Amino acid sequence: MTVFQAIADLPTAQAHPRDQRGRALHDLRISVMDRCNFRCPYCMPEATYGEHFSFLRNDERLGFDEIERLCRLAAELGVSKLRLTGGEPLLRPHLVELVARLRRIDGIDDLAMTTNGVLLARHATELRDAGLDRITISLDTLDPALFHRMSGNRGALHEVLDGIEAAQQANFPHGIKLNTVVQRGVNEHTVTELVERFRGSGIVLRFIEYMDVGNRNHWSAEAVVPSRELIERIDARWPLEALPAQYAGEVATRFRFRDGAGEIGVISSVSAPFCGGCTRARLSSEGTLYTCLFATQGTDLRGLLREGASDDMLRETLRNTWLHRTDRYSEERAEQRQHARRKIEMHYIGG
Ligand code: SAM
Ligand code: SF4
Ligand code: SF4
Repeated sequence: MTVFQAIADLPTAQAHPRDQRGRALHDLRISVMDRCNFRCPYCMPEATYGEHFSFLRNDERLGFDEIERLCRLAAELGVSKLRLTGGEPLLRPHLVELVARLRRIDGIDDLAMTTNGVLLARHATELRDAGLDRITISLDTLDPALFHRMSGNRGALHEVLDGIEAAQQANFPHGIKLNTVVQRGVNEHTVTELVERFRGSGIVLRFIEYMDVGNRNHWSAEAVVPSRELIERIDARWPLEALPAQYAGEVATRFRFRDGAGEIGVISSVSAPFCGGCTRARLSSEGTLYTCLFATQGTDLRGLLREGASDDMLRETLRNTWLHRTDRYSEERAEQRQHARRKIEMHYIGG
């Protein structure tokens, strides 16, 4: 039996599939570029991703037609939110064209991007004009020397700050967030400076617990600063109040400043896993679909696309991949039940 026949024979009961734990498919993250202009040690350490590392060739990455087609089919299965990521998405040539094409897909009501911000100053307005709804910019510290070190000696803080300013001027309809990965003994002491700088600006800071993504960042639990500790620290200076979740499965826990200067969020994937509400799938740069950030294997969609699979076959493959999903890696980590496994690297699967 060919793979096409096998897929065609699978049941097509639910229009919007739910996985083995009852979770719907709502979000698709697309790594449009496996390369990056940074070498953040927690993601793409220089020791591994040096000049001899071999990234994908252009023809190995999904093309825009392929990405658009998969996103359209995913939208038919219930995906309403797309996020472009990487690697560094702004390194992908003509990305604005992809944004415009994804914007036109029926059912997509939130089109977002995560970027390190270095190239943002020159692209912010055209991205907004093409229909990008929101932007998340990664910023780990406001200390220029530490920033440079945390980017693997590649990035200059002022370029990212220029990018943030350009994003503010572009006025993205669903706003701007900043992602800060907090590491014990590395940048935890600069967190309050970030809060001071951005509270009241309309930009939402989100502090992310350092995670054991991939196999190469030498993660250890001691390097994680639990969100609770950060919130206590921030609350002592600027009193906070917890906010209710805006929708089921919201990843960030939100707090508002009691003085009205906006809100912040924490993403506590290590200390308080949220697998039970996880509605995300990830599409790698070379077209493999993963159902967990910590996946060890995925479903090859590029092969199907390039062998001439019909929309029905592709849609059923997406549906069945989701129907069979059982992932709950972060909960297993918390239960100390997951064993060493070879995970897909983050720049490739899309953070
Ligand atoms: N290059 C873009 C950027 O840095 O924003 C997009 C891709 S990056 C993989 C997406 C997000 O993942 C970034 O906000 C980054 O800080 C976060 N990230 C990377 N490695 C991480 C880790 N080990 N733990 C937690 N977050 C991580
Ligand atoms: Fe690049 Fe983003 Fe990973 Fe840093 S976190 S190395 S900027 S992909
Ligand atoms: Fe979702 Fe996997 Fe993260 Fe759990 S560990 S929240 S299933 S991506």
